[in-house]
Amino acid sequence: MKRAYVNPDLCIGCGLCVSMAPEVFRLNEQGLSEAYAETPEDELDAVVEAVDSCPVKAISIVEEDFDTEN
Ligand code: SF4
Repeated sequence: MKRAYVNPDLCIGCGLCVSMAPEVFRLNEQGLSEAYAETPEDELDAVVEAVDSCPVKAISIVEEDFDTEN
């Protein structure tokens, strides 16, 4: 599963990513974006577009590995 990450030191809270992928990003109480959900496959294109569109390049996508066996 992929997950977006917003660097809070870079984000300027323009809201672009929130409008592009509202199921993944939201503005927190500081007015900065945060990725509050994993990135579902059908949202991946929107998230990649948000990564490319972010004016300060604050968003990255990381691969989360859930292969741990209990
Ligand atoms: S597009 Fe970039 S700068 Fe704008 S709110 Fe999203 S992460 Fe922050």
